[in-house]
Amino acid sequence: MKKNNIFARIINKQIKSDILYQDDIITIFKDIFPKYPVHVLIVPNKKIKNLNAINNTNQNILNHMLIHTIKIAKKLKIHKTGYKVLINCNKGGGQEIPHLHIHLMGGVKK
Ligand code: AMP
Repeated sequence: MKKNNIFARIINKQIKSDILYQDDIITIFKDIFPKYPVHVLIVPNKKIKNLNAINNTNQNILNHMLIHTIKIAKKLKIHKTGYKVLINCNKGGGQEIPHLHIHLMGGVKK
């Protein structure tokens, strides 16, 4: 039987993580190795390998991810100081986990 990737296991609560938000479509949790003072991941509950797998039939999921990226940035109060949004795609793009995710990074005071 194929083993679920780490994000699928976080979404299904098979392993512990710091989940900040979850609904029927997405899960948002803290990155375990934060590169910024605030670093969270916005992940679709349904397995979508990467950005290349987005198409006309599932684009609503990407839209939902992005809307909630903005919402969580506001909730975490990094929207005024500023933040970075990143999607790595495939190995050459720095993607380590083959389950689509948005990195939301911020909290730097300048
Ligand atoms: P990427 O390189 O775009 O695939 O990003 C994967 C991200 O997942 C990295 O920033 C890791 O620090 C993060 N990560 C890996 N394992 C976990 C975990 N168990 N819980 C939370 N974040 C994780």
